[in-house]
Amino acid sequence: MSFHLFDTYQKKKVAFEPLTKGHVRMYNCGPTVYDYAHIGNFRAYIFADTLRRWLECSGYKVTQIMNITDVDDKTIKRALEEKKGLTDITKVYVDSFFEDLNTIHILPASHYPRATTHIDEMVELVQDLLERGFAYKTEDGSIYFRVSSFAEYGKLSGKKLEDLRIGERVSNDEYDSKDDVRDFALWKSWSERDGNVFWETPLGKGRPGWHIECSAMSMKYLGDVFDIHTGGVDNIFPHHENEIAQSRCGTDGDFSRYWAHCEYLLVEGKKMSKSLGNFYTLRDLTEKGYKARAIRYVLCATHYRSQLNFTMESLEAANNSLARIDDFRESWKNYPEGIIHAEVSGVLQRGDDQFTEAMNDDLNVSRALAALFTTIRELNALANDSKTSKADVSEIERYWNRWNHALGILEPFEAETATEIDDSWIQERIEARRDARAHKNWAEADRIRDELAAKNIELKDSADGTTWKFIG
Ligand code: AMP
Ligand code: ZN
Repeated sequence: MSFHLFDTYQKKKVAFEPLTKGHVRMYNCGPTVYDYAHIGNFRAYIFADTLRRWLECSGYKVTQIMNITDVDDKTIKRALEEKKGLTDITKVYVDSFFEDLNTIHILPASHYPRATTHIDEMVELVQDLLERGFAYKTEDGSIYFRVSSFAEYGKLSGKKLEDLRIGERVSNDEYDSKDDVRDFALWKSWSERDGNVFWETPLGKGRPGWHIECSAMSMKYLGDVFDIHTGGVDNIFPHHENEIAQSRCGTDGDFSRYWAHCEYLLVEGKKMSKSLGNFYTLRDLTEKGYKARAIRYVLCATHYRSQLNFTMESLEAANNSLARIDDFRESWKNYPEGIIHAEVSGVLQRGDDQFTEAMNDDLNVSRALAALFTTIRELNALANDSKTSKADVSEIERYWNRWNHALGILEPFEAETATEIDDSWIQERIEARRDARAHKNWAEADRIRDELAAKNIELKDSADGTTWKFIG
C-alpha cells in the first residue's frame, strides 16, 4: 500500500500524491504565543512532525511551514492585562516554544513565519478579495468576507450554510455591523481595545483577522496550491473553513489539496482546564521529572484521529516500553563475532514491511510500534539461540535508524541520559531538597522527590541524612 492519509475534506482515507513528484509542501497551524504551549498543542505538533518524518522516510523532500500567531485577540488581551507591549509578551512565548520543540525532539520546520512580519501579504489578499467582490467594508472600517458568495463554504466541516448561526466560538458583539451573522472579519479596524497594536495600511488603521494570517503566510511560502494543511480538530471550523473560502476566492488556486486534523487530547478523561488542575504545559511535566521522551511516546502512540487520554499511568507505561527499546539496543553490543545470519535479515525485513504498512495506513503509529516490539522479541529469541553476531549489527542499525527517523523515540534524548547516569546530579538534587526542607518549602522538597522518583531514584531519609537507590 502506498501512503494513505485521511482527508478531512473528502472525509475518507485517500492515496496521497503530491502535486510535484518527490516534493511535499505542507503547512501546520502553529502556536498562538500568549502562553506556554500545553501538551494538547504538542499532540498537534507531534502529529505534524510524525507526518513530516514519515514522508521523509518515504523518500519525499518536505517543505514544512509552521506559522506563529503573534497578533490576535488573545495576544493583545494578554499584553493589555500585563500592561506590556505586544512583542514583550510574545517574545517570551516564542522563545519557550522553540525550547520546547527541542526538548521533545520535534524536527525544525523549514520556516516559522510570524504574523506581524507578514501584514503586507495579508493586506494584499484582502484587497484582492475586495476587488473580486467577495469582501466588503463596514462603517467602522472593518472588512468582512461575504460567506454567501462562496458556494462551497461548509464543505470541509460538513456544515450547511443555512444552518450556521451566531454563537460558535465568536461573541455576539463582533457581529455589530456585518451584513450577515455568518460573515467573518478579514481586517479589524482599530478600536480602543487594541491599545497601541495597529498597522496603518491601505485598508486603514487596524489589524488582520486570525484566519487571513494563515492564508497569506501559507500561500506566500508554498504557493496558491500546496499539498497538506494540518491542525487540531478545533481548527476545522471556523478557522480552516474560512481559510479555504478566502484563499480560493482571493486567488486562482485551489489552496491545500489534503486536510489532516488530529483529535483532542484529554487529561485523566477530562478536557484540560486550569480550574480542574489537569492543565499541563510540557515544562510542567519535565519540571516534575517526567521524561520528555516518555511524553513524546504517549503523545504519538495513540492514533492521531482518536482522542488521547493522557494519564500519569500512561507515562509510566511509556517508560517501560522505552526501557525495552533501550535494553534491546544495548544487547547488540554483546553479540559475539561471527557471520551474517539470513534469519536476522528475514526478521528485519518482515518487521519493516509491517512497520511500513502500518505507517502507510494513515500513520498508524500504534501498529508500527507493535511491529517494532515483535521484531525486538524475535531478534532477542535469535540472540538466545546464538543466531546473531556483530556482523548483523550494521543491518539492524540501518532499519533502526529508519524507524527512529519515523518516530523520534528509539534513541535516548541526550539531556536526559546525561542527568540520569550522573551521580553528582542526584547529590545536587538531594542537597537542593535538604535546603528546601530547611526553609520549610515543602512543595519544592516534594517536587524534587517526585522529580527523582520519575527517574526511578528512591530517597530514604534517616537521622544520618538522605540516601538514594535505583528502583524498578
Ligand atoms: P493554539 O495555540 O490555540 O492556536 O493551538 C495550536 C494548535 O494546537 C492547533 O492546531 C490546535 O488545534 C491544537 N490544539 C489545541 N488544544 C488541543 C488539544 N487539547 N488536543 C489536541 N490539539 C490541540
Ligand atoms: Zn492557522
